[in-house]
Amino acid sequence: MIFDLIIYNGRLVFPDNVFMGGVAVNNGKIEKIFQHKDNLSGLKEIDAKGSYILPGLIDSHVHFRTPGLTHKETWKTGSQAAVAGGVTTVLDMPNTNPYTTSMDHINDKENCIIGQSFVDFGFHFGVEPKNVFRLHEVDINSVASVKVFLTGHHTAKNVISDQDELDEIFKIAANKNILLTLHAEDEATLNLFRSLQHPPTNLIDYEKHLPRTAGIIAIGRVLEFVRKYGTQVHVLHVSSAEEAELLELAALAGYPVTYETTPHQLWFDAHESVHLGSKGKLSPAIRNKEDQFRLWSSLIEGLMTSVGSDHAPHTAEEKNQAFEKCPPGLPGVQEMLPVLVTGLLKNFPSLTQDEVMCKIVTVLASGPADLFRIDNKKGRLEIGLDADIVLVDLNNQWEVRVEDLYGLCQWSAYEGEVLKGKPHMTIRGGQIVYDNGEFGNPDGKMVNFTKKSYLSFRDLTCSPFHRILPKGSISI
Ligand SMILES: [Zn+2]
Repeated sequence: MIFDLIIYNGRLVFPDNVFMGGVAVNNGKIEKIFQHKDNLSGLKEIDAKGSYILPGLIDSHVHFRTPGLTHKETWKTGSQAAVAGGVTTVLDMPNTNPYTTSMDHINDKENCIIGQSFVDFGFHFGVEPKNVFRLHEVDINSVASVKVFLTGHHTAKNVISDQDELDEIFKIAANKNILLTLHAEDEATLNLFRSLQHPPTNLIDYEKHLPRTAGIIAIGRVLEFVRKYGTQVHVLHVSSAEEAELLELAALAGYPVTYETTPHQLWFDAHESVHLGSKGKLSPAIRNKEDQFRLWSSLIEGLMTSVGSDHAPHTAEEKNQAFEKCPPGLPGVQEMLPVLVTGLLKNFPSLTQDEVMCKIVTVLASGPADLFRIDNKKGRLEIGLDADIVLVDLNNQWEVRVEDLYGLCQWSAYEGEVLKGKPHMTIRGGQIVYDNGEFGNPDGKMVNFTKKSYLSFRDLTCSPFHRILPKGSISI
């Protein structure tokens, strides 16, 4: 039998193991996983000698700015940056223009994107004050989650601060089996700090201006609602040790809560990164070394479900304004994989390269696939799943240079950093979409979400308490 595509002679990465071998692809799906190529043949054959073979990465948190904010990023440039970074599926946030608060908006967004996307994609649904009732129309098989902003974001003036409205959101979400994703910082707390302090002009003062207290208080509020209704929640861009600890303890107590952090929270700390100036202005703020270490430890221990880039590009002109005026956010979908690989190798020298890659596919592929239940099609190298595949050679180093970046805004907080783990080839649905600077076809499709209810939060594979299968249990 001749396959459409064979990739062989590489190191296949699973969440709990690594094997030498390859995959055979037909009709865009993984049809065979093998150790030795032997007499298998394909119309196209790729020798992955020296490379890891990973499942295509899933970035659960991007802002590709389409529609309405395309001076910052277009879907084409954002998705080019994504595949150059090994990402084959993105979940886009709702704070575009118009704000994504109806199923019509979801359909319109899909129509804007078709024919321009190098990645497969899904959308988070937004909710606005006074429009909470619209959650009744959410089709849970067509949206990744409902995103709730508990504090302001200059692109999302849709903060839900009214206690009764929040109560209603958590109630509807629980009844409809909607996953809530949260920007969990408490608006009132931040306003208090804003009123008592001068506007910050550097990252150290900014961290005090947007303190961890706001995150801790917000998570406390969220947990009250979770306790009341049993709503499943996923907290985005967790930045501090205390928030991580609260969420892990809540999960241990049986609350259906998970969380993710960002590559920039894992890479930068406010003191050592003060030279970044406004490029490092983010929401939540970059915190300290101790927070960084706590977040890395949770990632290593499997207590964190996923990492999302929070790719939030702004033009250089917007970011070059005075510190207090410039918008928070940075681009990072292309840098995410190398930042995580390099950070793990640097901070955990006792881990083997194979172990590092297992952690990577857990937080960047299987974790988000299981949490968002992306139609059982993605997130693993498994027979029958979409042939989304990334090739990475850890011997290649990459000094981040703006001219290598594909995002429209053309700047990076990581400029000048020397990173390992830059992919050299990305395949989506069996087609090469990125090959050392060359791009394939922008024919990515919208994904569906299989939101059937599960027996218990503990059975969900991305839950910290899911039993890890014994090593070697994957049959090939
Ligand atoms: Zn965001």
